[in-house]
Amino acid sequence: MRGLLPLSRGLCALSRAARARAVGFRGGFYGTQSINKAQPSFGLLFDIDGVLVRGRLPIPAAKKAFSKLVNSQGQFVVPVVFVTNAGNCLRQTKAAQLSHILGVQIAPDQVIMSHSPLRMFKKYHNKCVLVSGQGPVLEIAKNLGFNNVISIDMLRESFPLLDMVDHNRRPKLPSSPVGNLPKVEAVVLFGEPIRWETNLQLIIDVLLTGGNLSSVHQTQKTPHLPLLACNMDLIRWLKCCYCLLSRFGHGTFLVCLENIYKKITGEELKYEALMGKPSELTYHFAEYLIRCQAMEREWKNPITSLYAIGDNLMTDIYGANLYNRYLEERLARTNPKAVAKIATAAGSTAAIPEVDEVENMWESEFALPSATSCKSILVCTGVYNPKAEVPTDAHQCIKETVFHGHRDFRFDPALVEPGHIVKDVFEAVEIIFEQEKFSPQ
Ligand SMILES: [Mg+2]
Repeated sequence: MRGLLPLSRGLCALSRAARARAVGFRGGFYGTQSINKAQPSFGLLFDIDGVLVRGRLPIPAAKKAFSKLVNSQGQFVVPVVFVTNAGNCLRQTKAAQLSHILGVQIAPDQVIMSHSPLRMFKKYHNKCVLVSGQGPVLEIAKNLGFNNVISIDMLRESFPLLDMVDHNRRPKLPSSPVGNLPKVEAVVLFGEPIRWETNLQLIIDVLLTGGNLSSVHQTQKTPHLPLLACNMDLIRWLKCCYCLLSRFGHGTFLVCLENIYKKITGEELKYEALMGKPSELTYHFAEYLIRCQAMEREWKNPITSLYAIGDNLMTDIYGANLYNRYLEERLARTNPKAVAKIATAAGSTAAIPEVDEVENMWESEFALPSATSCKSILVCTGVYNPKAEVPTDAHQCIKETVFHGHRDFRFDPALVEPGHIVKDVFEAVEIIFEQEKFSPQ
């Protein structure tokens, strides 16, 4: 996975001055200004299911928490984004649903779906992209900026002989390709499809033919088409009347695709980008949207602290901790004393690259966060069960053999340890306000 390297320039048209303020980290403003506690220097990332809502009903603590987060004019008093791994609807649909459920006006720009970071991949927006998933995938792709999109169904209709698993869907008579679809140049996996066998077959076909289904499979060692995937959750948790049910998620579909590709070619399937929690890409995007909110509101303090509130250890807590690790390492590179400390601990002075060397790798302001920390807070209103026996050492319970994270995310027990465990989201907000000594005007 190439992470953020291919990022395009600019998500929304910010003025040069606004960008300068948004990327103020380079100017070293933190620690040099007096802190105005009536204005926030922190932002909040809320998971949705199990934290704010259960199904279509609000969790009572969420309404209480939002009464602290919104002023009498209905405006947020701190920057807030909602980060979900859901991906089968438009962000404006999710914003409208949340506004209705929570009774607070939430803008589409505050909602980050698993596919939202695709807005940054402008270099693919004019290429012919095959999309896989369910729901309004063509509309979602268009909304993200893609202009030349084809679906699995369109591909199947043009090449009816390729989808052969379901005997009832096979063409009754010999048929040749119909239609004239352009050559596929990249593949975007939005979420788990309905007919897995069809999607697996046609995606493998596209990868092995370089996007031209009229040609034969090439299984020798050549790079395959760029592949971008959203939502790596191996399982989805569904609340039924008596328990939580774990069902296959998009991560399971990716496991199938990766293994089929490897079995056929002997090579690893490689992703251009993986997004959705716990990917750092999603947190970079969240941090950027939080900075934009602070700028729009003309809050003067840089947003230096982020708090991510969630109910899932493997996505919300792992993701927040992983991003926090990135922010700490980045901060260390800018701080000679911290560099020396890390270098001493590592027994070397050569391990840490110069900050300019690293920052030159990034192509846009997304890579220049003002945040210096991202703290994780686990709530007990969702999939996390505080009554389950909690071992004192994460090594005891989470063995690498049952690690449910994605193949490309390394196993590390420290990443699933929350900064705080609280009863619910109201308690989380109270703790954050107390830690930040924040009292809205
Ligand atoms: Mg959740």
